[in-house]
Amino acid sequence: MNLFYKSTRSKDDKVTASQAILKGLASDGGLFVPTEIPSLDVSLEELTSMTYQEIAYEVMKKFLTDFTEEELKYCIEKAYDSKFDTDQIAPLREADGAYYLELFHGSTIAFKDMALSILPYLLTTSAKKNQVENEIVILTATSGDTGKAALAGFADVEGTKIIVFYPKNGVSPIQEKQMVTQKGANTYVVGIKGNFDDAQSGVKAMFNDAELAKEMDAAGFQFSSANSINIGRLVPQVVYYVYAYSRLLKDGKIANGETINVVVPTGNFGNILAAFYAKSMGLPIGKLICASNDNKVLFDFFKTGTYDRNREFILTSSPSMDILISSNLERLIYRIAGNDADANAVLMQSLTKDGVYHITDEMKAQLADFEGGFADEAKTAATIKELYEKTGYVIDTHTAVAAAVYEDYKSASNDETKTVIASTASPFKFTRSVMNAIDPAYDVKGDFELVDELSRIAEVKVPQAIEEIRNANILHDTVCEVADMKKTVKEWLHIQ
Ligand SMILES: *Cc1c(COP(=O)(O)O)cnc(C)c1O
Repeated sequence: MNLFYKSTRSKDDKVTASQAILKGLASDGGLFVPTEIPSLDVSLEELTSMTYQEIAYEVMKKFLTDFTEEELKYCIEKAYDSKFDTDQIAPLREADGAYYLELFHGSTIAFKDMALSILPYLLTTSAKKNQVENEIVILTATSGDTGKAALAGFADVEGTKIIVFYPKNGVSPIQEKQMVTQKGANTYVVGIKGNFDDAQSGVKAMFNDAELAKEMDAAGFQFSSANSINIGRLVPQVVYYVYAYSRLLKDGKIANGETINVVVPTGNFGNILAAFYAKSMGLPIGKLICASNDNKVLFDFFKTGTYDRNREFILTSSPSMDILISSNLERLIYRIAGNDADANAVLMQSLTKDGVYHITDEMKAQLADFEGGFADEAKTAATIKELYEKTGYVIDTHTAVAAAVYEDYKSASNDETKTVIASTASPFKFTRSVMNAIDPAYDVKGDFELVDELSRIAEVKVPQAIEEIRNANILHDTVCEVADMKKTVKEWLHIQ
């Protein structure tokens, strides 16, 4: 059976999976959603004997129905290989009564690798299938982790160029160093004088700029997106929830069919939406617990039914979650509006115009599986310290937000359901914040001294991704105003 994708904002624009991957964003500014969520056609029991790659195939073939078996298996084999430092790809680690799903074993040590190591293959395969002759220009806004993962995925991939915009003062020192040392003749990294929302809005505006699209086409280019608005990002993320369930079952931690909860540290709402899709495919997930940092727009939304971005943007120690416009929430809004594109479009217009929208009580009632929570900076730091002192396990700041929210949820609800916490980054990526949480005395040390100290106390080898940047040269030093993002892109591509 063929599955099609349509825009969350209009009734037409029905496209195949490969076309949706190529376009990234629908032409009306909406996001592509599958016309229905497919079901898994293997049993939970069967999953226990499969590898990560085999499970990836079972999940992804249901969403990407216009890919042949050969094409999809090729993409999966290329993506989930020895770039990951464990053949489990996404191992589970039990600590203090929860299961941490470690999504940071890829080449840039954040969970973005889970999707961005396969996206270049999905995209170039899609281009071939659709006889695209233009060079594909990946336009990306990043709050820190997407940028590096996308750069690593696309560097020197034939037929592509990639440009990444990041908030100059809004990412961790390690994150910035990872990006500005990126090699590859087709890569370009630009710091903007603004925050992540500015970067994301600037990128979205370029996608919706018909004039620019024409100029690009004349010069032999077309845009695509590596952001989580691309369904080619979302679909690979469904896989690891299915994989996590299969390992819990295999290891006898849960019974066949037993419900689990998941906690996801959330920014753009991509990762938790993937968990929701996994649940919709038939995976026994109970609560989807959405964890925010001080930028708790989603927590407020789940509580009140009002999404309101009119508030101060707070820089936190979990920068990849410093977001006030969670783009992927639109896909959920569309769904709870009864797949009504017009109703969704009205809400999104209100968000663009006034920065706020309200959902109906009927819509809110459909969010019962979601639970919102948030953790401030002090609580996040205390969580890192407590878990380390109790178990020796060191988690990063984003994961700590989720762990803190889980603790709150458990004590408020007495819900003892087995729980998977999405562990979205290696602590080595946020070394200073992590080490300061454990002991503020560490603050006087240099970034790489801290790396070695973390390795010692956590008894974990320094990841390759960190070793690589220790002495790497800075290759990108462009900084631009938010208003000049388009100009910067055109200059780089030599368009007039
Ligand atoms: C991107 C990111 C998040 C947020 O994920 P979303 O899919 O945007 O909600 C959380 N933690 C880390 C480390 C990230 O890189």
